[in-house]
Amino acid sequence: MTILRAQPGLLTRSAQIIDGKAVAAEVRAECRIRVQKLKQSGIAPALAVLMVGNDPASAIYVRNKIKACAEVGIHSEQFVFDKDTSSDVLLERIHSLNANPMIHGILVQLPLPSHIALKPILHAIDPQKDVDGFHLYNVGALVSGSAVFPPCTPFGVLRLLEHAKIPLEGQNVVVVGASNIVGKPMALMLMQRDATVCICHAKTRDLAQFTILADILVVAAGRPSLILPQMVKTGAVVIDVGINRLPNGRLVGDVDFEGVRKKASFVTPVPGGVGPMTVTMLLVNTIASAEHAAHRMP
Ligand code: NAD
Repeated sequence: MTILRAQPGLLTRSAQIIDGKAVAAEVRAECRIRVQKLKQSGIAPALAVLMVGNDPASAIYVRNKIKACAEVGIHSEQFVFDKDTSSDVLLERIHSLNANPMIHGILVQLPLPSHIALKPILHAIDPQKDVDGFHLYNVGALVSGSAVFPPCTPFGVLRLLEHAKIPLEGQNVVVVGASNIVGKPMALMLMQRDATVCICHAKTRDLAQFTILADILVVAAGRPSLILPQMVKTGAVVIDVGINRLPNGRLVGDVDFEGVRKKASFVTPVPGGVGPMTVTMLLVNTIASAEHAAHRMP
């Protein structure tokens, strides 16, 4: 028998799976409606995607983003630069896209080749078009609780938690991973919602003593099987952001899914959990940017 509980912290036998694909489809349907409205008022939302080099994984991510834009009616433009392209050439393109009123979102696909310094590139993007949310302005806004464009992956996690009706206020949340892209913004966004947040990272001593206290555990470390059932509190909500390719080609997260699902109340699968939400929230941010532009119109 499967006993499901909607509240974190209660006894469960098998976790409810949070279906990221289904939630993403729901959000994309909302996106389509917002795009139609914008087009009716004469604004065609548009995203520019810049990529340097021909890293195969990056090429797949870019293709997925372009495809997702087309699915909801967002116009997209792709700029692919040779791997030896200089920072100046890239900056020149960013400045011209900043000045182009027909473009609402600018995204630089990461990683960049090592000869290009990342920060000057990210900080050259107009904060009002920074739909990835990596510009210092948007990072600062996130810290002060007024995010303009929340970074897409943690934004997607929040949407999943919201969809599953998981209360956040006063909950003990442990975030494993402290990167600028996932862990840190995730912690800030959860703090903003009055959760009690603890961040762990590679130098944390005895990870389990922290994770076991979590009502909600968000894991973004990039280490397969990092989180085992004995590290998880019975009834916890477990969100697995990790994406790891095993030597046998299988794609897995950071959580021992089969073990942890017997203990948690909710869990996200990999693939099909957080992944589909990341691209979807990029669409949401691009549409929000076009809506802001519409409000600024005389
Ligand atoms: P990153 O390498 O920049 O950061 C990893 C973080 O995990 C660091 O803070 C590190 O200190 C911590 N960490 C590493 N080993 C640890 C350990 N043994 N114990 C505790 N903490 C540890 O990675 P990232 O960009 O934040 O991505 C993390 C994972 O999430 C990766 O698997 C990545 O592929 C995945 N990811 C998924 C999506 C998605 O859409 N689902 C989006 C972004 C990243």
